Amino acid sequence: MSAVIIDGKATAKRLRKEIKSEVAELRAGGITPTLAVVIVGDDPASRVYVTNKEKDCEKCGIASLEFALDADAGQSKLETLVGELNARDDVHGVLVQLPLPKGYDERRILDLIDPRKDVDAFHPLNVGRIVRGDYAFLPCTPAGVMALIDEYGIEVEGRECVVVGRSNIVGKPMSLLLLHRNGTVTTCHSRTKNLAEVCRRADILVSAVGKIGVITPDMVKPGACVIDVAINTAPDGSLVGDCADGVSEVAGFITPVPGGVGPMTRVMLLRNTLTAARLLCGAGGE
Ligand code: NDP
Repeated sequence: MSAVIIDGKATAKRLRKEIKSEVAELRAGGITPTLAVVIVGDDPASRVYVTNKEKDCEKCGIASLEFALDADAGQSKLETLVGELNARDDVHGVLVQLPLPKGYDERRILDLIDPRKDVDAFHPLNVGRIVRGDYAFLPCTPAGVMALIDEYGIEVEGRECVVVGRSNIVGKPMSLLLLHRNGTVTTCHSRTKNLAEVCRRADILVSAVGKIGVITPDMVKPGACVIDVAINTAPDGSLVGDCADGVSEVAGFITPVPGGVGPMTRVMLLRNTLTAARLLCGAGGE
């Protein structure tokens, strides 16, 4: 039996429609949710991400402002820009596209973003709130995964959840969100012993490693929900996740790559921008 394919594209489309109508309501009240995107240097992948974010905003009626700095603009110029964007009343979300070119102190920049405008949810205050469970913003990828889990009616409470990967942007917050939903959570990483054995316990298995084929069919409990977060480029240039061929024959549910978590990450940035606009303008928080 093949797994049910979790359609991130369709779910993201539905959520975008909801966001669009919420944005229209705000705009009718005189507030245009606005995202400032800062890009430093000319990394082609970053350029694509930024352009996609701007297109997504446009589709939903969210305004986007782009601020492009040369790679050699320097830390203090970037810090000044972030300070200016923090101070602007017409900017609700501030996003600095990562990675920054060599020579920049990325952490210092992220720490400077006003936590109320921190639509990536990377500021330590927002990270702390996620740990406590009283957050306004969630990092986009784990938030997108939770939305997919909900969309497909997958029960988390009391179930074994295994997250492979412990990065600050995916693995760690992912584990916390599952824990907040009363999952029994195990977080794995490169030093985990008996990875296959641990994964086999999972009712919900989230893989955020970035290595093709790291999750093989024998590591999956029959009927489990497998969320493949990774985006890897295969030797033939196609995009693939962490799951090897055959995982979808064992799993009960699985996200495809592409078309699974990726579109959800994008839509959650729009959701966070809308939330920021509401909170900053006192138009009812979430
Ligand atoms: P990182 O490289 O920051 O983290 C990878 C994690 O995988 C680390 O915690 C690492 O462990 C762990 N790991 C590495 N090798 C193994 C192994 N053999 N067994 C078990 N664990 C291992 O990546 P990110 O979290 O930033 O991203 C993960 C993947 O998700 C990437 O493919 C990325 O492209 C993708 N991604 C997709 C998004 C989307 O929208 N779909 C958004 C963001 C990322 P250790 O900590 O010990 O080094």
